[in-house]
Amino acid sequence: MSLVDTLGRPLRNLRLSVTDRCNLRCAYCMPEEDYIWLPREELLHFEEVGTLVDVFLDLGVDKVRLTGGEPLLRRDLSELVRLLAARPRIRDLAITTNGVLLAEHAPALKTAGLGRVTVSLDTLRPERFTALTRRTTHAQVLEGIAAVPRAGFTGTKLDTVVMRGVNDDELADLIEFARTIPAEVRFIEYMDVGGATRWSMDRVVSRGEILDVLGHRYGAIEPVITKMGEPDSTAPAERFRLPGGLTFGIIASTTAPFCRVCDRSRLTADGMWYRCLYAREGTDLRGPLRRGAGAAALAALIAGGWRERADRGAEERLALRDRAPLVQIAALRQDPHLEMHTRGG
Ligand code: SAM
Ligand code: SF4
Ligand code: SF4
Repeated sequence: MSLVDTLGRPLRNLRLSVTDRCNLRCAYCMPEEDYIWLPREELLHFEEVGTLVDVFLDLGVDKVRLTGGEPLLRRDLSELVRLLAARPRIRDLAITTNGVLLAEHAPALKTAGLGRVTVSLDTLRPERFTALTRRTTHAQVLEGIAAVPRAGFTGTKLDTVVMRGVNDDELADLIEFARTIPAEVRFIEYMDVGGATRWSMDRVVSRGEILDVLGHRYGAIEPVITKMGEPDSTAPAERFRLPGGLTFGIIASTTAPFCRVCDRSRLTADGMWYRCLYAREGTDLRGPLRRGAGAAALAALIAGGWRERADRGAEERLALRDRAPLVQIAALRQDPHLEMHTRGG
């Protein structure tokens, strides 16, 4: 019998954070001046990642996404990609990157067997990028994005966190830019998660507003319908088509969360396993692994955790009346695993 949690959700999607370090300081993710980093000796070696991934595959996972922090900061990442690409049970092997180092790495990632690339791109304006990320590497990000199709990748996505008063006037520009790559933009609602200590509801640009703005600009927007006659809302993104045929996605994690169908969990670079982006508690898999636990024992630990899973973090947040950032700075400092850049977005 297949493994499901208390709400009948299967375990399919594994987000693998390979480092907690980052070469940007996005205001919605890492707004502070300094951070406490995971000790290097606690990071999983690639073989350890492979062992844990095999257990997840045995339990039903078939999609793996490399993330971070900035995954391209992990040395020899292509080696890990090669090791994972050799596992045919992974139907979809992808990466989410900020793109800064992508131009130099894209060809090797392709050769190693990576399937798809998502690049986070919040603005087309260099000065805005600098204000938002406290770094001056916007040109490198654009070069990185251009390198993705050159390396032979298709199905590329550009993920944009939309923030009121920051980049909400660039929605159409980003869609037009994506067409030239070619790629598809997905607009993500600003979430009150992890290190987003400056979050407030009035900075969130909702799915509804995004559709209104684009509707005014382009005319009637239709949901993308699959061959089965259903809206193409392969969670988490809902996909839409503009009158000219261009498509884009919206990930309404804040105002219309998709917890009911959430099949994802997250493994941090030091082997903590979290069953929800908002979860306070995780399961240490590195400890048992390094103490010699075999595949069966690890599978029992993971399966037990998944069977008990009742998480609906974003839905519970939505039900709150006075909503403020989830975690305060002091708590983040005590447990960096609560950070989005540690947990992997
Ligand atoms: N550094 C890589 C990157 O930025 O693509 C991968 C890790 S990052 C944590 C993964 C995704 O989480 C990015 O697309 C980022 O925009 C998103 N993210 C981070 N903080 C967020 C927040 N507060 N609300 C919504 N999305 C957020
Ligand atoms: Fe930005 Fe990604 Fe780095 Fe967070 S982890 S600061 S979203 S680049
Ligand atoms: Fe899944 Fe938790 Fe996000 Fe809901 S809040 S979609 S349960 S990770």
